[in-house]
Amino acid sequence: MDFRKLISQHVEMEDFLSGGFAVRKQPAGSGRRRSFGGGAADAKLAKIAGRVKRCRRCDLGSIRTNAVPGEGTAGSAIIFVGEAPGADEDAQGRPFVGRAGQMLDKIIAAMGLERRDVFIGNILKCRPPGNRDPRPDEITSCLPYLQEQIELIKPAIIVALGAHAARTLLNSNRSIGELRGRFHEYQGPLGCPPIKLMATYHPAYLLRNYSLENRKRMWEDMKSVLAELGLPVPAGRQ
Ligand code: URA
Repeated sequence: MDFRKLISQHVEMEDFLSGGFAVRKQPAGSGRRRSFGGGAADAKLAKIAGRVKRCRRCDLGSIRTNAVPGEGTAGSAIIFVGEAPGADEDAQGRPFVGRAGQMLDKIIAAMGLERRDVFIGNILKCRPPGNRDPRPDEITSCLPYLQEQIELIKPAIIVALGAHAARTLLNSNRSIGELRGRFHEYQGPLGCPPIKLMATYHPAYLLRNYSLENRKRMWEDMKSVLAELGLPVPAGRQ
């Protein structure tokens, strides 16, 4: 392994996604946070989380340490959706708290947002053993929870992180290379109007395929999300 290259890539990534610029806070009421009659919807989100924690719809329910219902409030304008919890998430019961999560945090910060401004969830709520791919039967059992969360939050935009999230939410077999970089429409089964969905790379993919090209592509996708929300790209990040 070329450690010098690895370190320089790391420094480059820090600079590209989080360092060297001030993450500008939006003035209060600028549209960054939306309110939805909050309390009742948040209470419903908490009820879904309670059901997820007791869930035994598939075998993963009996081998998990913790279910990972997702995190964020009903007032979130963006929902990020990953694939499934990994070891760190299973241990803590929180989404995206491992290495991929640190990368997602940097992406969110680069957008001028904070983790508490968005909802973060996964297609599967429990960790598949050895981080294997979600099985179709597991997705069928688990997806209704996420669909309910989406319906409640009614975000302006869903960001599907990686092929599993994008294909599942769009009911498509296309590769992430084909799907990413443009808006699609998520049509849930519960009667909610279509929601714009941006498909992009999974942060773990970015970590494994650490090229400037890939980072730029992901950043272009996030800039499109900001533009769609009417939010400015933070200074120095254009
Ligand atoms: N990868 C995911 O897809 N989700 C997580 O919560 C963590 C890693």
